[in-house]
Amino acid sequence: MANSNRPNADISHVYRGTFIHSTQQTALQILEDTLLGVDTDGKIAFIEKGAELNQLSQIFGFNPSEVTQLAQHELFMPGLVDTHIHAPQYCYAGTALDMPLLQWLNTYTFPVESRFKDLEFAHRVYTQVVQRTLRNGTTTACYFATIHTDASLLLGQIANDFGQRALVGKVCMDRNNSVKHYKETNQESQEETCRFIAELLNKKYPLVRPVVTPRFAPSCTGALLGQLGAIAKNNNLHIQSHISENVEEVKLVKELFPESESYTDVYHKYNLLTDKTVMAHGCYLTDAELALFRETGASLSHCPNSNISLCSGMLDVRNVLKHKVKLGLGTDVAGGYSASMLDAVRRALDTSKVLTIQDPEYETLTFEEVFRLATLGGSHALSLDDQTGNFEVGKDFDALRVNVAAAGGPIDMIQCEGPKVILEKFLNLGDDRNIAEVFVAGRKVVPFSPSLNIASISVNGAGS
Ligand SMILES: [Zn+2]
Repeated sequence: MANSNRPNADISHVYRGTFIHSTQQTALQILEDTLLGVDTDGKIAFIEKGAELNQLSQIFGFNPSEVTQLAQHELFMPGLVDTHIHAPQYCYAGTALDMPLLQWLNTYTFPVESRFKDLEFAHRVYTQVVQRTLRNGTTTACYFATIHTDASLLLGQIANDFGQRALVGKVCMDRNNSVKHYKETNQESQEETCRFIAELLNKKYPLVRPVVTPRFAPSCTGALLGQLGAIAKNNNLHIQSHISENVEEVKLVKELFPESESYTDVYHKYNLLTDKTVMAHGCYLTDAELALFRETGASLSHCPNSNISLCSGMLDVRNVLKHKVKLGLGTDVAGGYSASMLDAVRRALDTSKVLTIQDPEYETLTFEEVFRLATLGGSHALSLDDQTGNFEVGKDFDALRVNVAAAGGPIDMIQCEGPKVILEKFLNLGDDRNIAEVFVAGRKVVPFSPSLNIASISVNGAGS
């Protein structure tokens, strides 16, 4: 009975079947005929062998007849963690992939993001992106919104209403020469960031937190970066931004911040590299820069679909792992065209295989390693691994109930297969039709509650 605590709260649900997750020690731990109990606080109370049923039912006070038994071809895995996604860009996901980063931002991104001062439009898009990502198993999302405070608060409200765990960032940018109406003054950016943080914290949403979000160094003056570093420090907040995504951008940062030794040094100088920082991409970081990430505890979000779609580069994940830098996966919608973390898993494997084609000595990532990056790795990268990421006792129950043989789904099971094969098939071939249920902190968030329809969420709620 090593994996259980004496009960602190009553048991609300007990599940029996196959559980697959990652731990610090092993990328893939398969637990067959296992019992997992969730308490009324949504936390994992125990995870034990099925044979312990009677003993557990006595200790924890539940009725063995109320245990939910998984069917054949079903398994539980931890919820997927999207460490980098732009909620407003979801409205053009799947298009506009014909330009490199800097031109892409000026041509597509900034004009679209500037529309989010319209709360009706923001409400529509943000509801869709939260629903779509939840259905695809994203139990935790680290969102960029736009520069608009009220629309960013609305995103937090919608994530909370649907029960998604989320970090939400109001984007900060006081430098934008191409789309002049889509930027803030230094003072606006600072004041609105403080208002955003105060109002979001004031809502006391249990699973939604603000994240300080300078868009990236080229969009911010040094003064603003310094102010944002101080705001994050004073409020002990998460920080997110972009780094070293494409060659042209790295060159631009060198021109804009000539006093800094490297791109990483720019953020470091302004106190934006902490153990609660996640930086997207990092394709062109040097070993010295990776060492600085390791030293500060900052993490990287690997967004392979975006890196390929915008022809940005290919992150050498093996080298990042060798430097012991925390790493998760991100969809980076809409530089990445898919909002599904299953796609991020596949593109991460593809990218690693392309690196192997270029260098046959390269140690290709395994699907087990990428599974860990998409779950525990992501929670670690967001410094949420004490709350979520795997099925450890005391953590919140964030989980997907996967049915690889779902009727009408994309997977044909030809013969009876073991759980490892079932998981691999799901990761490579599955989609939302295979995700029967999604749980966040013990609450079933997919299928959506019938009381939660788009009309029930007030557009004005964010400001009230
Ligand atoms: Zn991004």
